[in-house]
Amino acid sequence: MSEQKKEIIVLGAGVIGLTTAIKIQEAKGSEYNVTIIAETFPTDPRTIKYTSFWAGAQYVATRTDDLNLRRMERETFDVVWAMSEPGSGVAEGCLLRCTDYAYLPAEEQYADGKDYPTAFMPDFRQLPSNELVPGSVQGFACTAITFDIPRYLPYLLGRFTSGGGSIVRGTVGHIQQVLEGGASIFASPHSSRKPTPPDAVILCVGLGARTLGGIEDQDVVPIRGQTVLLRAPWVNVMPTLRDLKDGANPPYVIPRKGGDVIVGGTFHFNDWYPIPRPEITEHILARGLKLCPDLAPPEIRAEREPTVDDLRPLIKDVGVGFRPYRHGGVRVGVEWMDSSPLKDRVKKVPVVFNYGHGGNGYQASWGSAQIALEYLEGALTDPK
Ligand SMILES: Cc1cc2nc3c(=O)[nH]c(=O)nc-3n(C[C@H](O)[C@H](O)[C@H](O)COP(=O)(O)OP(=O)(O)OC[C@H]3O[C@@H](n4cnc5c(N)ncnc54)[C@H](O)[C@@H]3O)c2cc1C
Repeated sequence: MSEQKKEIIVLGAGVIGLTTAIKIQEAKGSEYNVTIIAETFPTDPRTIKYTSFWAGAQYVATRTDDLNLRRMERETFDVVWAMSEPGSGVAEGCLLRCTDYAYLPAEEQYADGKDYPTAFMPDFRQLPSNELVPGSVQGFACTAITFDIPRYLPYLLGRFTSGGGSIVRGTVGHIQQVLEGGASIFASPHSSRKPTPPDAVILCVGLGARTLGGIEDQDVVPIRGQTVLLRAPWVNVMPTLRDLKDGANPPYVIPRKGGDVIVGGTFHFNDWYPIPRPEITEHILARGLKLCPDLAPPEIRAEREPTVDDLRPLIKDVGVGFRPYRHGGVRVGVEWMDSSPLKDRVKKVPVVFNYGHGGNGYQASWGSAQIALEYLEGALTDPK
């Protein structure tokens, strides 16, 4: 690699873009200048166009045959476990270690409990029948991690910028705009940067991959998720009932470090409705309370059986997000693209893909960023 720093553009500032940008920046120190271009950043008002605002989000290893995803999640665990170590630094304030309880109904039963995907996680155990909840026939517990989104995303952004990374706001209509002009054509008009093709572009646009010109990946579709955010700092368990029969509305509870709790949820494929449906909110609250009576304030539980009405004063928000699912799995890889349709301006630029993480973006983030970095380094050491 030459002495001159390589100009790397990361397109997208969701959890995937931020994590990938940090991974590149920190991997090779001064060899890369990394700039993030995005329409939405973590400190902006929340919008349906930015999925990362709306996640739970938990780290609980996924039950999947997708080896790529398994590698990403396994590597992410090691990173976030270290980040959540008590006394380890700022990141610890964004991450909560808590006990996950996965309850499985008969049709979801797992043949060999010892092989359950969370078996590598701390304190893993199969639950005895007297610890199961109604509707389940099998269950597993382990110590898992949750991300406090309003803290974690700004933490990632701050880590990137304080490490020397640049950010530029821009809505990219076609990938060629970035390939030919780099970040400067989206920067302020007072920028002194001359438009030049970057050395590489990393594409972390989530659901945006479906519409971004030059990419238009129709395998990317939303899985709509609706959730309720409660203020319930007394909750420190994370139960999920994997009951997928009921219109894809499995109940789950995710406590966050700051004392808020996400109650979900829904998994509706190709459902683009961007605001909460009131009847689903009721359904989420009722099933959440049944699964986890601890959602109600302790003083109420001490006196009587809680009802959904006891949860209403705790509601801070009702949210909807579109998980960027991709048929065929997360797209990670590299393709060389022409920077311009004009022959006298054309240059081949490597475009590394890192999008389509569906409901796993947080828990796959660091492993996925590592794979993207490997593709980037491979491309830069073997230029076209
Ligand atoms: C209800 C719900 C619960 C979830 N729970 C979990 C969980 O428990 N654990 C977990 O791991 N995951 C969870 N997820 C999934 C997780 O939120 C996503 O996988 C993740 O946020 C995807 O991140 P991303 O960076 O790919 O996309 P996004 O967060 O959508 O970011 C995309 C970025 O690209 C930018 N962009 C897109 N197109 C363009 C363009 N043309 N020009 C400029 N910028 C562009 C956007 O502005 C944005 O900055 C959940 C999701 C939902 C909705």
